[in-house]
Amino acid sequence: MSFDSAVEAQALFGRLAMDFPEGAFVSRSPIDGAAFGGVAPASPAEVAAAVERAQAAFLAWRSVPAPRRGELVRLFGTVLREEKETLARLVSLEAGKILQEGLGEVQEMIDICDFAVGLSRQLYGLTIATERPGHRMMETWHPLGVVGVISAFNFPVAVWAWNACLAFVCGDAVLWKPSEKTPLAAAAVQALFERAAARFGAAPDHLSQIVQGAREIGEALVDHPKVALVSATGSTRMGRMVAPRVAARFGRVLLELGGNNAMVVAPSADLALAERAIAFAAVGTAGQRCTTLRRLFVHDDIYEQLVPRLKQVWRNVPVGNPLEQGTLVGPLIDGAAFAAMQVALDEARRQGGAVEGGERLLEEIWPNAFYVRPAIVEMPAQSAITLTETFAPILYVMRYATLDEAIAAHNAAPQGLASSIFTNDLREAELFLSAAGSDCGIVNVNIGPSGAEIGGAFGGEKETGGGRESGSDAWRNYMRRATNTINYSRDLPLAQGIDFSIP
Ligand code: NAD
Repeated sequence: MSFDSAVEAQALFGRLAMDFPEGAFVSRSPIDGAAFGGVAPASPAEVAAAVERAQAAFLAWRSVPAPRRGELVRLFGTVLREEKETLARLVSLEAGKILQEGLGEVQEMIDICDFAVGLSRQLYGLTIATERPGHRMMETWHPLGVVGVISAFNFPVAVWAWNACLAFVCGDAVLWKPSEKTPLAAAAVQALFERAAARFGAAPDHLSQIVQGAREIGEALVDHPKVALVSATGSTRMGRMVAPRVAARFGRVLLELGGNNAMVVAPSADLALAERAIAFAAVGTAGQRCTTLRRLFVHDDIYEQLVPRLKQVWRNVPVGNPLEQGTLVGPLIDGAAFAAMQVALDEARRQGGAVEGGERLLEEIWPNAFYVRPAIVEMPAQSAITLTETFAPILYVMRYATLDEAIAAHNAAPQGLASSIFTNDLREAELFLSAAGSDCGIVNVNIGPSGAEIGGAFGGEKETGGGRESGSDAWRNYMRRATNTINYSRDLPLAQGIDFSIP
């Protein structure tokens, strides 16, 4: 079990041809809790200067034809394919997710590159019927400006790519404030993007930039009047601060905030399938996904069959070094996450919950790292603690008798990100998907709530913030719409038949 994050980091930086000097702003690996590199933090004045540079890049980039812009993103996808394993290992090293999930995260970046390249020839507007003779009406979509991306630690590279790859083909420049917990993965992505830009040869300087730092650097970006769109991913607490500040200057905001995702397991469910889906969604990424399964509603008739099986999985799931093959649960990001998990479990006990798991593991090997046995908590009913997002592997399990009751409990959470039902009853599945069913942005049947593909729009309602990123028509966030009316007649008819004849 011997592991040295600094040694691993040096090997990765070498492969990426990057040099990360020890800086004032140190990054620690959650694997062993040791510092393994550093970056220089930006100052608010440097953020302002970066926005000005981004604005200059935007002014040049907006006039490059969109399919040509797509070529840059295609080259970036090629670089990512070349460095997939190296970047994935760096993500695992810095965020603590298992290598399979690190590889999956980089694959998501590659997928969104491919999606964006296709999109670069499909930024369609409508032609609309006009009421006036000899006129034509249409919509055109234009590049928006500087896009500010604020990202969370748990998807340290993919979230930027969801935003940036679309923004680049849409003609925008991107300024990224990554999580202060994962600065080096972000720096590596920037270096890889610059490699692609060098191959492209004609991208304006500063099309993509990073400003490193914590909250105050995010705030400087949020408040800058030349940042046309702030796309912010993180906690609801952060969104509550960001949204009004951007609104105060009439900027655009795209929020991807906290989730408190649930699954309903109905009597007709395929329990073997459900068991696997529950385990992946609840303990994968050590419970640190925005789409992690946190609340499980199990029908009375199958409760005694399913829940003991889950407890067995929870007891045996391999927890350890995320870079070692066979590990399914890596460490929590830091000691604060571990403390928050213990507070939540104590609160759950106070609210009548029976807790299994949740204890610290591997402390004797890595005293500065925080590994836990995932917790499974049988609750007598949904209560305040189950309605709170604790960013750790805690699954609250509750019984239900009727589907209406389960849907009401499901929708009682203040967040509205992802949800699912396991059932082989068509009526139940369709009800859950209907207007009277789940109120989330992502609603699944017979798969878990996590692990979305990039082709669909990603995001959620209520305290999740209402934003949609990635596939479908999310590209519209990164463009501005102009409605154009063209008169090709020799007359000037007014809309609504208004008579305005000048005597
Ligand atoms: P966080 O809110 O602590 O930090 C997220 C980012 O916001 C960081 O870059 C941070 O520096 C920045 N930030 C914090 N306060 C700010 C402020 N006032 N102004 C500007 N920037 C500010 O979140 P975290 O702990 O890194 O990530 C976990 C949270 O993110 C969870 O709640 C999770 O559900 C959520 N998340 C949501 C999605 C989604 O797509 N909905 C995806 C990933 C994570």
